[in-house]
Amino acid sequence: MLFNANYSNVNDSYLFSTIAKKVAAYRAAAPDAKVLRLGIGDVTLPLAPAVVDAIRAAAGEMAEKATFRGYGPEQGYDFLREAVRGYYSERGVSVSADEIFISDGAKSDLGNILDLFSQNNTVLVPDPVYPVYVDTNVMAGRRIIYADANEGNGFLPMPDYSVDADIIYICSPNNPTGAAYTVAQLQEWVDYADKKGAVILYDAAYECFIRDEKFARSIYLAKGAENCAIEFCSFSKMAGFTGTRCGWTVVPRAIERGGLSANKMWLRRQTTKFNGVPYIVQRAAAAVFTPEGRAQTEANLAYYRENAKLIAGTLEKLGIWFTGGGHSPYIWFKCPFGMGSWEFFDHLLGNAQVVGTPGAGFGANGEGFFRLSAFGDREDTAEAMERIERLLAK
Ligand SMILES: *Cc1c(COP(=O)(O)O)cnc(C)c1O
Repeated sequence: MLFNANYSNVNDSYLFSTIAKKVAAYRAAAPDAKVLRLGIGDVTLPLAPAVVDAIRAAAGEMAEKATFRGYGPEQGYDFLREAVRGYYSERGVSVSADEIFISDGAKSDLGNILDLFSQNNTVLVPDPVYPVYVDTNVMAGRRIIYADANEGNGFLPMPDYSVDADIIYICSPNNPTGAAYTVAQLQEWVDYADKKGAVILYDAAYECFIRDEKFARSIYLAKGAENCAIEFCSFSKMAGFTGTRCGWTVVPRAIERGGLSANKMWLRRQTTKFNGVPYIVQRAAAAVFTPEGRAQTEANLAYYRENAKLIAGTLEKLGIWFTGGGHSPYIWFKCPFGMGSWEFFDHLLGNAQVVGTPGAGFGANGEGFFRLSAFGDREDTAEAMERIERLLAK
């Protein structure tokens, strides 16, 4: 027996365990201090009432012989695929239901989609980055190159035609930087992918935070994207499904290479290795798109947006350079006093009892930067901002 030796090349992620250790050590030394957590990448508000009602109703159906459901379609029930199709058509994006695949979340699909691609492809990922894109490709032994995201380009790298890539990752609005591409900027990426014969894996998990139509809520707003882009989206951040698990992936039928179709391959892959999302969860997800569900989830998003506004407003007042906030639950800023990411983490924890996420944990280009999340409590966020203002003013 031989193990997949590529696993020994996967970097151990010490980011969140190091944060937890540092916070625990601080708490042990200062048990009375009120530590405020603005480091979380998870939602905190509960599921919308319309969603919970749908879960209850679906559980009731499962309790009756006449309405009980066993195995469902691997690619998702029609009622949910149709609802997702409707969500796209609101924005003038036309995808057909058979191009939409329901899954247990974007993270699984982002990893699983790699089954479709040869190991010999070169992968282009932005730095800093959501670690899943890198680790899944390291596990498969693919060559990875990086697109520099930095202060100079507002953490929105643009294509470089001297670089050859086969698989391109784009996450917009971005985790960790909160930066979002405009439709015009995505058009440049689509044109580049088209020229290189590459595929774009577009992570739209945070599209729901965008309100200004200048920013793209889908890559399919760029012309020709249906020939080269696969889009991943999720109910996790949109409707608080991080623990409920549901997402979708759009695999256009137009993506074909060497006589193979990405859509047909993905259907084959899913029907072989996946048995679908629970009926109850799919009913819950469909309820997100009802008028009540929309209004209720939008109220939760508005709550997070308001937190983001508080954070962004404080940084503006302090004259600290940042990205995100307006169309993202993340605010990514330059550490003051020329501090390194971890140095600033310690400074903030020790002097303001506020926990954030050091940018260095997301890649080399994250050094010197810091991420705050708007997913916390309003009161905690407001208090954290008062403390940060006091600590960093003048
Ligand atoms: C949270 C998040 C997701 C969503 O993942 P799920 O598996 O659907 O919960 C996807 N991409 C990024 C960058 C994220 O931060």
